[in-house]
Amino acid sequence: MSAATLNERTNLLGLPKAELEAFVAEMGSKPFRARQLMNWVYKRGEGSIANMTDLAKDFRAQLAECAEIRTPDIVTMQHSCDGTRKWKLSADSSQAFEMVFIPEKERGTLCISSQVGCMLDCSFCSTAQQGFNRNLTTAEIVGQVWLAKKELGFEAGGDRIVTNVVLMGMGEPLANFRNVVPAVRILMDDYGFDLSRRRVTLSTSGLVPQIYKLAEETNVALAVSLHAPDDELRSELVPINRKHPIAELLAACWHYIDEQNGRSVTFEYVMLDGVNDSPAQARALAALLKGHPAKVNLIPFNPFPETRYKRSPQPAILKFRDELIQRGVLATIRRTRGDDIDAACGQLAGKVIDRTTVRLGNKLFGVAVQQ
Ligand code: SAH
Repeated sequence: MSAATLNERTNLLGLPKAELEAFVAEMGSKPFRARQLMNWVYKRGEGSIANMTDLAKDFRAQLAECAEIRTPDIVTMQHSCDGTRKWKLSADSSQAFEMVFIPEKERGTLCISSQVGCMLDCSFCSTAQQGFNRNLTTAEIVGQVWLAKKELGFEAGGDRIVTNVVLMGMGEPLANFRNVVPAVRILMDDYGFDLSRRRVTLSTSGLVPQIYKLAEETNVALAVSLHAPDDELRSELVPINRKHPIAELLAACWHYIDEQNGRSVTFEYVMLDGVNDSPAQARALAALLKGHPAKVNLIPFNPFPETRYKRSPQPAILKFRDELIQRGVLATIRRTRGDDIDAACGQLAGKVIDRTTVRLGNKLFGVAVQQ
């Protein structure tokens, strides 16, 4: 069969339950078939329709004609000495993106990508250096989780290996709203990967209108890349701030928590030596967040070639955290994992060929948002 014919088949991986039900209905089948299919695909990790033995043979044959389970291809896999693994994936011949699995004692976190490259141009992020290529499809986003589970052993021994999924890989998830929201639904659906809303986190650099929209569509946990306590510095580090300044961003965050009956927003704050890591900046940050449903996750900066930044020394990071805690703001320090294989935060680069030169730094208000 030619590749062209294959690609015309519907990828079951990208379909939320309601759409899968519609799809099987079109084939003349009952809605419960969709639930059976989801059970095979997401709970049992079955990638071949032929092997779904409790479906009638005729239905399987009919389905195999028009549908399949199609994941991105693995280009390479690297193992860190700390157990972290990084996969470089490709969806077609010219596009590559990355996902990272971080095992810990009590949980296993999979960090997935939402775009190939990124157009937000944050000055301390290596993904930004490569520009933007394209949005990942819902199937490519969900396919990362499916593939990781396959690689790690689908629920070996009954225990979950991937307990948490974070959209913190390459790309800005809210700039790919249309594909990310259905993917998040599949991650949290009982019939899908069945992860609780606390275990799926979407991290955004602060696309304010999309945060309001997200509140209407899903209740995924929200993380926001804040990185500075004032607009002048934040605009330098995270250029989207020039369009959506801190006060607007925080208002959107509190709205999100109100709407979602959520616990709190996690604010990510990269620790850059001599840039945003002073005790005075910690106090200013505490003043912004105190009394709100917020916690701060301090991320020691992960260097990459040609960056002008340095990681804050450990005593500065501890002092910054303590200043926050003393002012009643919950704060933790993210442990750096996988940096020996460039799998740490902000080090995901993949390989972007034929990239467009559209980057937010050059074209600030031209950010293309797919809704
Ligand atoms: N675009 C989204 C998600 C991707 S980045 C966002 O901005 O939130 C995930 C986190 O890693 C973000 O908080 C990002 O600011 C941070 N990050 C980026 N580059 C980094 C680096 N070099 N060192 C440490 N953290 C970095």
